[in-house]
Amino acid sequence: MAETVKHEESFEFQAEIKKLLDILSHSLYTHKEVFLRELISNASDALTKMRFHSLANHDYEGKDLPLEIKIDVDEKNKILTVSDSGIGMTKDEVVQNIGTIAKSGSLEFIKNLSEQAKKDSSIIGQFGVGFYAVFMVADEVRIRTKSYKKDEPAYEWRSDGSGKYFLHPVEKESRGTDIVIHLKDDEKEYTDKSRIQEIIKKYSNFVSFPIIAGGEKANQITAVWKEPKKNVTDEQYTEFYKFISNTEETPLFRLHTSAEAPIQFYSILYCPATNQEIYGFKKLDHGVQLYSNKILIQADCKLLLPEYMRFIRGVVDSADIPLNISRETFQDNRIVHKIKSILVKQILTLLQDIAKKEKEKYETFWRQFGRIFKEGLHFDFENRDALAQLMRFNSSTCADADGLISLKEYVDRMKPEQKEIYYITAVNRETMEKSPYLEIFRKKGIEVLYLIDPHDEFLLTSLIEFEKKPIRSADQANLDLLKDIDKEIVDTSSEPQNYDDMFKHLLKTVRVVLADKIIDARESHRLSDSPCCLVNPDGVPSVHVQKLIQMMDKDYRISKKIMEINRKHRMVQNLARMNENPGLQQLVEKIVLQLFENASMQDGVIYDPLSMVPRLNELMEELTKAMLGEGKRIIV
Ligand code: ADP
Ligand code: MG
Repeated sequence: MAETVKHEESFEFQAEIKKLLDILSHSLYTHKEVFLRELISNASDALTKMRFHSLANHDYEGKDLPLEIKIDVDEKNKILTVSDSGIGMTKDEVVQNIGTIAKSGSLEFIKNLSEQAKKDSSIIGQFGVGFYAVFMVADEVRIRTKSYKKDEPAYEWRSDGSGKYFLHPVEKESRGTDIVIHLKDDEKEYTDKSRIQEIIKKYSNFVSFPIIAGGEKANQITAVWKEPKKNVTDEQYTEFYKFISNTEETPLFRLHTSAEAPIQFYSILYCPATNQEIYGFKKLDHGVQLYSNKILIQADCKLLLPEYMRFIRGVVDSADIPLNISRETFQDNRIVHKIKSILVKQILTLLQDIAKKEKEKYETFWRQFGRIFKEGLHFDFENRDALAQLMRFNSSTCADADGLISLKEYVDRMKPEQKEIYYITAVNRETMEKSPYLEIFRKKGIEVLYLIDPHDEFLLTSLIEFEKKPIRSADQANLDLLKDIDKEIVDTSSEPQNYDDMFKHLLKTVRVVLADKIIDARESHRLSDSPCCLVNPDGVPSVHVQKLIQMMDKDYRISKKIMEINRKHRMVQNLARMNENPGLQQLVEKIVLQLFENASMQDGVIYDPLSMVPRLNELMEELTKAMLGEGKRIIV
């Protein structure tokens, strides 16, 4: 560290920053060059704020300064300087902005990153810790800054990126900030003028202020969104996306709009290729920038797109929006609302188009953003039909859990006699495939939607119907409606004598034994391989959804169900016979209890494991006795 300076104060970094700095300076990152993008982006932010401020106020430092960024290199001393004529910082602001991390979760994220084998620092800027990236290449950094506020003294901040930083007043003539970087020995490439120009082209080409590097303007400064579409190449679009979203990724798709009437506006919107929310980094911020005639008004405008499109990045520029609009009055701005409604419709139309023509791309979109996007069904009533068309689900006809189908595809291949759309909910595809509820559907060749995400059931039930076909849970299906599909001939020849009466008697016994556990017991028409199952009365959500409710409301009780019994099942027939013999009542009761618990488990609820195991042991004891001919042998 350099010599001590008079009137210098020393500060400790916030603990979180210390950890962050430690990771940054001791990990081997790829793409270290992004530190420059971060510094330029901060300079550009400071200039934007200055330009904005100057529109309404006339009393500030350095009125005649051009708004620009300068980058100078000193090869001999290995020093790189990034200067701007932006708003600068007061002493308090330096301590506040450079000494603490504003965004929560940033450190968590970086920590997880550092554990990955290959470190890619290109994402740093997205998480609000951009400035510190400079310590990947620097062994000392000085910030000299003078605020736009009148009569504020200039300050110098310096740190070597270990635990401390120092502040002292400094002579600085003009408003703005200089970042003076003393490069590490092996980072000499950043004193090469052409290397610097190359990095600027790569990451900062669209910064809307001139960047002067080594005396030459190094960036393009076009408002791409105002260009006619035919003048913009794919590369430029992609480059612009990378610039506004601070990533290396190529976007999944884009939408460039210029509207004349009823409102004049320009916009370019992009869908990213990956969803950061999936990787657990909190809820995404809205990413659309609002401009009025090329001047940035708001960087993360929430009102231009609905919540369920929060992953879309881009810019919207309308000269019809007043520059001095405050965040509060935005809410009621008619023009903003109108633009939003137009953009949403355009995005939905584009998505329909992609779904039709580029199925794979649409599926990529769905896998990444489906979880966020489908929230739209709940909230965007106006575009419900379009949204319903865009939903995707796994279903019994898909080859595996990755398959996706649309409701339209489902309806198009429904059996002629089929009147409803069916779904089943469970934690995974395997469970659903083994579910007794599906037996009748499989037998009749009827497709069933597999809902793995519990929110899907909320969504589908709120949709109520699709193309006039009611949407119904497989365990609530009105089986009368299935009667005419693939009619089967019932063969009763193998039933025991007087089975009708015996079966009725068995139902009675079940009702008594399970009196406090079920609503009723009845004959099933949906089972073929299973002896019994539990079904919901009409209008009750599935256990899957009820468990969700229970997580939010501890007092919520999972509702009782109806036990359906398969009279054609061999074991049921045997049980009915045993039930006719008073001497076997105890055993019958145990079997009935066990049948109930088995059915509960298939439904995803473990009822009473503590009494189940001894009961199973007793039943097995009976079984072993019977196998050895020692049990009671009573033929009815
Ligand atoms: P972010 O830019 O996401 O806020 P950074 O770590 O890049 O995070 O910067 C932290 C803060 O430091 C900025 O929000 C800003 O207040 C301040 N800052 C950084 N560079 C400058 C600069 N050149 N001029 C004025 N303020 C700056
Ligand atoms: Mg920044």
